[in-house]
Amino acid sequence: MSGLRIQRRLLAVFLVLLACVLLPTALLLDVWVGSDLREVVRADLTRDTVALASELDRAPPANLPDWAAHLGFANGYRVTVIAPGGEVLADSDVRSEELGRVENHRERPEVISALAGQLGSNVRRSATVGKQMMYVAAPVGSPPHAVLRLALPLDQVAKTVGKAHAAVFVSGLFAFVLAYLLGSALSRWWSRPVIAVTQATRAMIQGDFTSPLPEPEDDELGDLLIALDTLRKQLAGQIEALSQEGLKLRAVLDGMTEGVALVQSHTITAANLAFTKLLGLEGTAEGRTLLEVARLPSLADAVEQAMRDRTEASSEAQVGGRSIMIHAHPLGVVSARQAVVVLIDMTETRRLERLRRDFVANASHELRTPVAAIVGVAETLAAGAADDPVARASFVEILLRHSERLSRLTADLLDIARLEGGYRPRTEKVPLNAVVEAVASSLRPRAEARQIQLTIHLPEQLAVTAERPAAEQILTNLVDNAIKYTAEGRSVTVSARPRGTFVELVVEDTGQGIPAEHLPRLFERFYRVDNARSRELGGTGLGLAIVKHLVLANGGEIRVESTVGQGSRFLVLLPRASL
Ligand code: ADP
Repeated sequence: MSGLRIQRRLLAVFLVLLACVLLPTALLLDVWVGSDLREVVRADLTRDTVALASELDRAPPANLPDWAAHLGFANGYRVTVIAPGGEVLADSDVRSEELGRVENHRERPEVISALAGQLGSNVRRSATVGKQMMYVAAPVGSPPHAVLRLALPLDQVAKTVGKAHAAVFVSGLFAFVLAYLLGSALSRWWSRPVIAVTQATRAMIQGDFTSPLPEPEDDELGDLLIALDTLRKQLAGQIEALSQEGLKLRAVLDGMTEGVALVQSHTITAANLAFTKLLGLEGTAEGRTLLEVARLPSLADAVEQAMRDRTEASSEAQVGGRSIMIHAHPLGVVSARQAVVVLIDMTETRRLERLRRDFVANASHELRTPVAAIVGVAETLAAGAADDPVARASFVEILLRHSERLSRLTADLLDIARLEGGYRPRTEKVPLNAVVEAVASSLRPRAEARQIQLTIHLPEQLAVTAERPAAEQILTNLVDNAIKYTAEGRSVTVSARPRGTFVELVVEDTGQGIPAEHLPRLFERFYRVDNARSRELGGTGLGLAIVKHLVLANGGEIRVESTVGQGSRFLVLLPRASL
């Protein structure tokens, strides 16, 4: 296209140039050559007219019309003899019998001059022969008694000038064709690099910075090519850097657990993965409205408030069972109506807060019973019951029981507080049979009191990497529970075996078992299957929670299997130590 445009322009320039050269040439041809030729004709005619006029004066012919006709025929002139009154006496182009009808010639300019005794000439269209003619008239005699006029048609002059015009026109045409061919070739040659530059620029617009550029030559276009090449290298570098920045930003945003979205008016213009995930969206959120992605009035209100009041707005909403904190920050200028929305999943935080609240309530509740009992008994004793030896003994026994319970509770609560407050076990190699023996010997009296058979199956030489007191407490709590929740006369077995890099410690009883629905929550603080029974047996409801904390902190795992009516198995994995 650009080639054609350049070609058209070149041709237009050539045409104007040609016109500028040829038109004056044609005009000058007309003026100079035409007038020169006419002057030649005039000079010839004048010479002949003067010679013939003097001959006519010297020897007038007998028959004037014949003389004129003869002369005219011989020389190609029109020969006219005019009387001083203007009547035509003879004319080589008019037969003698028609001479009377010829118009009077006295007023012809050349005749007027000749009658005044001078040579006269004139160029005009002849009324008689209908052609452009040159007339030259001379006086015959002095004073003139007639006028001799010779006339020649100027056809030849016009023909010669016409031929010169034709030559100019033909050479102009030739020059035009040459200009056309040369112009096409030149414009094609010149526009080649321009077309290449245009194509490369178009490719750059499409994002392609590698399409080939022609070799630059040592001219202005070459400079343009070099400048363009530098420009596109810089542009490519900057675009690459920008896209890298964009990718980094995207990676950071997508790596965040908080949902982040950019909102323009009410349309989401950008959103990270967490945003779509937290709102449970299918597909992308980008390009959709807030109302489309979530029917959350609190979200729409917060965004609207941030855009309108230019302040940060926050609220909390429930989305698919999760607690989501919504923060909306205004962005840009007021008229931009832009905001950044940040969604934070507060489900776990809220759960922990609830657990803490429940824990405080449960702990207070657990403490209140023994404290109330102790206060009550102490008041009764103070009111006089202490004087009665029988009552005193039973009251003291109640005091003792509740004090022990209080002491167990505070000990367990302190343990829990210690374990939840950043407990770091000081692990060592602990031989398992030593731990099991120590626990068994401390709990055997209690087992025997309930005729429960405590059996131990331990392979020789098994050791764990753990904190020794922790290992003892884990085992004590599990065996104590097994004895507590097993009917008299049954059995409790403690066994251990290596499992990969772990040692599996199993405390198994043949007791009442635990219904399946309680198993998932069994290790929570104060969680009991049967509250009354646990309290009656002196349980605090914290034993298994402490066990779980200790096992996890010592790098282990714990799980429970149970069948109601058949018994329970607590399986503890602890890291194995080589002996
Ligand atoms: P508690 O002091 O009440 O025993 P734990 O945290 O030690 O508290 O145990 C939580 C609950 O798990 C107990 O109240 C009991 O209902 C149940 N439980 C624990 N061990 C056993 C077991 N071996 N057999 C049956 N139930 C058990």
